[in-house]
Amino acid sequence: MSGLAVSNVEVRAGEVTILSGTGLTAPAGAVTGLIGPNGAGKSTLIGAVVGLRRLSRGTITFDGADLPQMRPAKRAKLVAYVEQSSTTSERLTVRDVVALGRIPFQSTWQSVPTPADERVVETAIDELGVREFAGRLYHSLSGGEQQRVQLARALAQEPQLLLLDEPTSHLDIKAQLLVLDLLRRLTQAGSTVLLAMHDLNLAARFCDHLVVMHGGRVVAEGASSEVLTPSLLLEVYGVHANIVTLPGSARPLVIYDRAAGTVPAPKSD
Ligand code: ADP
Ligand code: MG
Repeated sequence: MSGLAVSNVEVRAGEVTILSGTGLTAPAGAVTGLIGPNGAGKSTLIGAVVGLRRLSRGTITFDGADLPQMRPAKRAKLVAYVEQSSTTSERLTVRDVVALGRIPFQSTWQSVPTPADERVVETAIDELGVREFAGRLYHSLSGGEQQRVQLARALAQEPQLLLLDEPTSHLDIKAQLLVLDLLRRLTQAGSTVLLAMHDLNLAARFCDHLVVMHGGRVVAEGASSEVLTPSLLLEVYGVHANIVTLPGSARPLVIYDRAAGTVPAPKSD
């Protein structure tokens, strides 16, 4: 299969097993949403794919190539990763941070970026709308601004596989829509995108494929209309919800009601 394939993965931290028998696919040319409650194992799974977490068993391949076995320099040309939040004490400007995305493509003896590298960096700065603070120090930006800069850095890497861990958690709704739209355009150019996110309605709206994690395992995978059911939301998230479909749309819309174990509110209408 072209794209990302994770099969029967186990990740441990000391005596604790965090992921166990975990498998999923993120098809090439599609946006795959990784959803599940806090502590489900989403960040650990993404960490395993990008080589930050060692597997105690299982396989992870991208376009058939074994990712954990791949030389880091080769993997860095293929895979970009946007962390949940990313701080630095270095005195780097926004443009410096975006330019970090080009490092995997520069030879060790190269002292200045090539004009082609600079063009890619400037395009990424514009795509994420961060030009107005391109000259500012990165650590002086707000959380949402830093998140957009990290997305620009990942875009500058021109990755074939892009992994994002809650990349829109600090963004206002317009910026969220712009970023998700940008990710869709990347996949139309052939990239594979896997993103962890919490907003189920945005996930249903933008993702071609959804993977649901719970307790370190994948409990459902497929189209949003198959995966997002009231029984799954109750089992995995512990919430009562209704699922509706708007006229003319195939995508489900989740209407939350209440947390499991709480009494329904009296009807006011
Ligand atoms: P998510 O991103 O879905 O919120 P995580 O992958 O961050 O979940 O964490 C999954 C579970 O693994 C959580 O219960 C977390 O506390 C636990 N965990 C993560 N890293 C470690 C660690 N180094 N040692 C022990 N437990 C860990
Ligand atoms: Mg997480």
